[in-house]
Amino acid sequence: MLVVKKFGGTSVANKERIENVARRCVEEYKQGNQVIVVLSAMGKQTDVLLDMAKDINPNASRRELDMLLTTGEQTSVALMAMAIDALGVPAISLNAWQVAMNTTADYGNAKLKRIDTERIYNELENRKIVIITGFQGVNKYDDYTTLGRGGSDTTAVALAAALHADACEIYTDVDGVFTADPRVVPKARKLDVISYDEMLELASLGAGVLHNRSVEMAKKYGVQLVVRSSLNENEGTIVKEDNKMEKMLVSGVATDSNVVQIAVEGLENKPGVAFKLFRHLANHNVNVDMILQSVEHGGKQDISFTVTEEAAAEAIETVERHGETSLKCDNINVTRDVAKVSIVGAGMMSHAGVAARMFEALYDAGVNIRQISTSEIRVTVLVDEKYVEKAAQAIHDEFSL
Ligand code: ADP
Ligand code: ASP
Ligand code: MG
Repeated sequence: MLVVKKFGGTSVANKERIENVARRCVEEYKQGNQVIVVLSAMGKQTDVLLDMAKDINPNASRRELDMLLTTGEQTSVALMAMAIDALGVPAISLNAWQVAMNTTADYGNAKLKRIDTERIYNELENRKIVIITGFQGVNKYDDYTTLGRGGSDTTAVALAAALHADACEIYTDVDGVFTADPRVVPKARKLDVISYDEMLELASLGAGVLHNRSVEMAKKYGVQLVVRSSLNENEGTIVKEDNKMEKMLVSGVATDSNVVQIAVEGLENKPGVAFKLFRHLANHNVNVDMILQSVEHGGKQDISFTVTEEAAAEAIETVERHGETSLKCDNINVTRDVAKVSIVGAGMMSHAGVAARMFEALYDAGVNIRQISTSEIRVTVLVDEKYVEKAAQAIHDEFSL
């Protein structure tokens, strides 16, 4: 059996944790399996490196940032190889260049294009545990790139797909995928199984337990995932294609505070205004999330939209630049202390009234809704950030998750 095991930052945060992971990998190896280990940087090392960069130059280039960030994963894989070696089992660490893991050019948010499997297979044939850096790749300029925060999950899934692995296990600091972030909703319950589609929505809506692109890739290549704790032997959550007859009405609640709301007020109410606004934003590579257009008042209208905190500066600058000239708006209003709260469930598709129950729970909890958006299997509301926990708990209770 070929097994891919991915361990996140907290699972390799210090010597003891690294030794714990080394033992788990050796156990797997001693059962006669081929073992690929994908690692994140130790603990909060990626944040530490980002702070160092910001301190030296707040406008550091994305290329140099990636050059810096890839050192985090390179440290953890080398130490892991040493720890496994110390247990008497041969191991080798490889970075994205040595593998090679080819990505698109875009630093900081590169997409994996192709993984060479030859070197990996050679090392496995030599009965080595192969330890690979998560999160990083190499682009056509022979530069290091990174896959976006949390991207080590995607490295693991991509390797599992490329190597036709028999299992892909994502080890983290919680027991699996819960009905809500257990740090936000203490009553949250671990799920035994979740479908790709539901997991993808939850991950995209802020459930940081899996990188959303890792779920997308798992679905595309049919890689079944297991999310479980590196600190105990509990069973974890299986992420796979849904084949249940009865779908869960609501399977989870997700929260995301990395949101800024931008309201463009007093726009002319005529065709082409929304087109122009969002064309300008797209031209500046700003990803827009929720959109709300107001009814007309005095011949004018407002359009509000949300973006991530990282994209906010570019979005505001773009709207300001075009605000007086092509957009002709009266005012731009920026609200930073907002957050999204979402419910996800495949059963929503066939049941009316789910959104109404969510809104009632928020009303009972005294939480005002600023904006709403929905899809077939999700409802998202924008609320004041200070109400995030209250809102998530009220909704969690309402659906008895
Ligand atoms: P790792 O370093 O192992 O990749 P992450 O911090 O990226 O770990 O992801 C694990 C964290 O995800 C948990 O500690 C938890 O707070 C958070 N989380 C958010 N939503 C969920 C959820 N629905 N289920 C489980 N964990 C969640
Ligand atoms: N070390 C990277 C991060 O902190 C990638 C990862 O952990 O998945 O975002
Ligand atoms: Mg993670």
